Amino acid sequence: MASVTTSDSLLPADEHQQQLLELVRPLAAVRCPVEQSRGLRLAEQPKAQVDSPPFTNSAMDGYAVRSDDLAELPATLTVTDDLPAGARPTQSVEPGTAQRIMTGAMLPDGADCVVPVELTDAGTARVAVAEVVEAGQHIRRQGEDVVVGTGIGQAGQLLTPTVVASLVSLGVAEVSVTPAPRVAVISTGDELIESGSDLAAGKIFDSNSVLLEGLVSQAGAVCVIRASVNDEVENLRRVLTAASAEADLIVTAGGISAGAYEVVKQTLAESPGAWFGGVNIQPGKPQGFGLVNDVPVVTLPGNPVSVLVSFWLFVNPMLRRLAGAEMPVPERVSAQIADSVAAHSQRVRWQPAIRNGHSVVQPLPKGGSHMLSKAVGADCLIEVMPGESLPAGSHVNVMDFGIRP
Ligand code: AMP
Ligand code: MG
Repeated sequence: MASVTTSDSLLPADEHQQQLLELVRPLAAVRCPVEQSRGLRLAEQPKAQVDSPPFTNSAMDGYAVRSDDLAELPATLTVTDDLPAGARPTQSVEPGTAQRIMTGAMLPDGADCVVPVELTDAGTARVAVAEVVEAGQHIRRQGEDVVVGTGIGQAGQLLTPTVVASLVSLGVAEVSVTPAPRVAVISTGDELIESGSDLAAGKIFDSNSVLLEGLVSQAGAVCVIRASVNDEVENLRRVLTAASAEADLIVTAGGISAGAYEVVKQTLAESPGAWFGGVNIQPGKPQGFGLVNDVPVVTLPGNPVSVLVSFWLFVNPMLRRLAGAEMPVPERVSAQIADSVAAHSQRVRWQPAIRNGHSVVQPLPKGGSHMLSKAVGADCLIEVMPGESLPAGSHVNVMDFGIRP
């Protein structure tokens, strides 16, 4: 990898994305109790340990019978047993008899169908059946959903609540997963003060570290450190070193552009493997990365909307790769815009917008990259090519965050 690179020409966003992705590999797989695996990704495909359903059972509350006994209706059968869910039948259903059975209870031998209670007189000693029921009706067959030994899901798949519950039902007690990436977020700047402090002249509240902590968590990773440091190289170096012992990825905000006190650049730019330059996007042009004790540090610019855009363009794909996703860069979706969107003359603009899963997206009001309130509620970014004219109704490419804010 190139050492210090300072380029006047702007790097396309996908090239920056790729150079960042080269810094990370999926984390080593660990075994995890299945009920604690939600939100992680499968590192290996688990196999069903039991059939589903594990035994043939009743789909209705009613009577387990032999369908031959219903050849002539009405039929009256002797009720020989009562089978609640969870019970093991002790006798088979002989001709002329029935067993009262509840939904989910194991079907006794001899029976080949269940008569729903609604089609009977609901008798307890003898039951009269008024309507025909065919062999196989109202029965859930062993293994009709999944047969033991079947592979479930695939490596890289996200363990959603339905996947986890389905694995539990198939007797999978432990899964091999890629752990959640541990992330340290560090905001930088002499002007920053913590939320809740008095706002002294010249200071601003540190919203970036809070924003990044939230974005990291929404992306399924764990924020292990949230810190804010002033513009002194020694301080930043100390916090970066501490963070490198606890995190798989470090994300900084601020201190990388063209000012006189660019603490992140001053701290990292001379180190091997670092890159600082401009990326062809707006907002978020200044970007960079470095390594601290082999832990990648992604350095984002300081303006809050730039942080938001840079996070989804550059940090999220790294988190996805660390977490074992097959496709680290989520596919763009196409959508229509409800209102016109302005282009930048030279750079690709990423306009925060609200999609909410719909095919028509609502661009948020255009604002400067310091105006975080204009990006509130964004769940996607609209890609706007340089100089492009995009009146309302235009078709656009959208990067959906895949989360609902
Ligand atoms: P910088 O990239 O450090 O020059 O910062 C660019 C702009 O973002 C400046 O106006 C900063 O005051 C602002 N900024 C930097 N860090 C933060 C932060 N943590 N929270 C809010 N605004 C910030
Ligand atoms: Mg700064």
